[in-house]
Amino acid sequence: MEINISLLKKICETPGTSGFENRIRALIKKEVEPLVDECRIDTMGNLIAIKKAKKANSKKLMLAAHMDEIGFITNYIDKDGFIRFNTIGGFDPKTLTAQRVIVHGKKDLIGIMGCKPIHMMSAEETKKLPEIKDYFIDLGMSKEEVEKYVSIGDPITRERNLIELGDCISSKSMDNRISVFILIETLRLLKEVPYDLYAVFTVQEEVGIRGAHLATHEINPEFGIAIDVTIAYDTPGAQEQEKIIKLGQGVAIKIMDKCTICDYRMISYLKSIAKNNNIPYQLDVRNVGGTDAEALQLMGKSGAITGAISIPTRYIHQVVETIHKSDLSNTIALTKQAIENIANYSWEHI
Ligand SMILES: [Zn+2]
Repeated sequence: MEINISLLKKICETPGTSGFENRIRALIKKEVEPLVDECRIDTMGNLIAIKKAKKANSKKLMLAAHMDEIGFITNYIDKDGFIRFNTIGGFDPKTLTAQRVIVHGKKDLIGIMGCKPIHMMSAEETKKLPEIKDYFIDLGMSKEEVEKYVSIGDPITRERNLIELGDCISSKSMDNRISVFILIETLRLLKEVPYDLYAVFTVQEEVGIRGAHLATHEINPEFGIAIDVTIAYDTPGAQEQEKIIKLGQGVAIKIMDKCTICDYRMISYLKSIAKNNNIPYQLDVRNVGGTDAEALQLMGKSGAITGAISIPTRYIHQVVETIHKSDLSNTIALTKQAIENIANYSWEHI
């Protein structure tokens, strides 16, 4: 499958931390509007794209891919013009060292994530892991100049371009823009759908799966599938038993994480679809993390038969999140087949 790298690059590089998804939402809306029957935005900002089944009063299948990314928010500008911030989403503090960010004030401003130079640290300090509070953002401007453009509450995102390397692609915010891309490309490939398809690009997942709660509650689907990244810890230092998911070994079908035990029927359905279509897959069992699947399973009036399709990703929540091109194609293939065959499966409890 030919990968539309320039679209993926735009999707990854467009800013949109949780609660400030305006720009990424506008880009997705432009892409999906021609591919669906209806496209709307709910109160919280979830983008809901609907493709109708031929039959009226069809059952509903909801797919969710969160469009927000981890980031920061301005909470103080000091007398020398340095910006202090809160984090939005989960950061490993050491990954902030030597990074560039973009402060989204009246205009976008590149900033440096500054911290104390090693030469000035005591022997004690050099042994300690950095904390978020050790960092500040330097715009290279005086306080007066900074305040012309930046206000308290302005969002900040990480600055990093998408690159191809070997058979892989690396960028900031692969979590979860790769799944946004997968959902868009799946919509592009679909012709008819057996059940009404709700492709939802959710907001505020990184701060607690918030957008998906509202969207699922309102849509009330019978079936739910979340699309997100999963941890590929297949790098030096990993124990054999930690290499559950490996890059380039196929799409990951979630069994459980900290927030969800996927419906056993959805797990066997996704496995059978993968087998029947010769799509390589890996099974993902963890006791950490969570995805929009949590909301999909719980927030409809009667709940939904829910699972999750994940794309293996190295270095999650760093600016160099990396995926394998073959996993990308396999994830799109499984997502498409899972949508098209959903009416041909017995969903009764056994
Ligand atoms: Zn995610």
